[in-house]
Amino acid sequence: MNLLVINCGSSSLKYQLINMEDESVMAKGLVEKIGLETGIFTHSPSGKHKIVQKESIPNHTVALNMVMTALTESKYGVIDSLSEITAIGHRIVHGGEYYSESVLIDDNVMEALEKCIELAPLHNPANITGVNACKELLPEVPQVAVFDTAFHQSMPSEAYTYPLPYEYYEKYKVRKYGFHGTSHKYVSNRTAAFLGKSIEDLKIITCHLGNGASIAAVKNGHSVDTTMGFTPLEGLAMGTRCGSIDPSIVTFLMEKEKLSTDEIYDILNKESGVLGISGVSSDFRDIEAAAENGNKRAILAIDVFNYKVKTSIGAYAAAMDGVDAIVFTAGLGENSASNRKAICEGLSYLGITIDDERNKIRGEENMISTTDSKVKVLVIPTDEEMAIARDTKDIVKGNVLDKALS
Ligand code: AMP
Repeated sequence: MNLLVINCGSSSLKYQLINMEDESVMAKGLVEKIGLETGIFTHSPSGKHKIVQKESIPNHTVALNMVMTALTESKYGVIDSLSEITAIGHRIVHGGEYYSESVLIDDNVMEALEKCIELAPLHNPANITGVNACKELLPEVPQVAVFDTAFHQSMPSEAYTYPLPYEYYEKYKVRKYGFHGTSHKYVSNRTAAFLGKSIEDLKIITCHLGNGASIAAVKNGHSVDTTMGFTPLEGLAMGTRCGSIDPSIVTFLMEKEKLSTDEIYDILNKESGVLGISGVSSDFRDIEAAAENGNKRAILAIDVFNYKVKTSIGAYAAAMDGVDAIVFTAGLGENSASNRKAICEGLSYLGITIDDERNKIRGEENMISTTDSKVKVLVIPTDEEMAIARDTKDIVKGNVLDKALS
């Protein structure tokens, strides 16, 4: 069974073709700058040379057409015909309160995705465009929606309800949804497997620390709280996003600086976080380099970031009445030994000791705490594409079985 995993952004499309017999990636790639003057298409077939094409790519259907051609092309292709694609799994950012798990896409699902546009105006339209482009090119191939929000639908009402007039929840569904759910679910399951325990018996805090960053409290396999909220702006300080701040700052700055809603939105989403504090970059590699050279604001940016992570871990240990394992993942979580060390240094009260040698290992699943550390600390590389592919496989298989039984 070959599955195509698609992740559509407003001007980009990422894909992976995965052979589910052995979960090997047959090809992966990225189409960037869709709709702009010059688009870039990068296709990396397994065991063959990468190709990069630069040309006008006016829309997602054209982008997808390029992907399909590359996948089946004689020199760079990995399959003979598109009929070898069994199903397509889509990363969908927002499933609102409609979906707590992945789902086979039909007209009702499309309607729900449309309704969720107001909750994720930047993301869901691009995701819908990707589904429609696939429908156009491969109308017979089943498509599955895998939601960033779904894993967090298990949060209890005290975790997802904001202390606002309740009518805004009733009228507009203003509540905490949480994001990065596919990653939090994947790494928490891998953590249980790594520890050789059932996830039903574990309290895990998953720290997805990338350009976007969030933490989740996963109790007995279910998300019970997470730092991102109604939108992916809440929670930790991030690359360019401010995370949680006093809401009064928004109106204060709008008044002082005569800002429109679009302008303040951009400041909070694109000019804040560690970029805003450091003035150096949103990329931790640049900030760490500047900090090593004594740049005070870079040092402060790292300190603020780590402090938010540390205090959120403390909050989630409280939410779950304890914690068995803390896991780091995503670009920064997987790669920055110094950040992990600094975050965990303040957590000795939980019974955490880091093994400095193990903490240096990169790129593989690894326990970085000492063997006698009461709480285990792990690094688990996330693999959202594989998680999407596995859900897609389960749903398509279930669907085939349902049809056979009906
Ligand atoms: P992601 O969003 O998961 O792709 O993570 C991207 C972020 O990970 C980058 O912006 C960097 O801040 C961080 N990152 C990646 N590699 C390293 C590294 N070797 N050291 C420190 N930070 C890293």
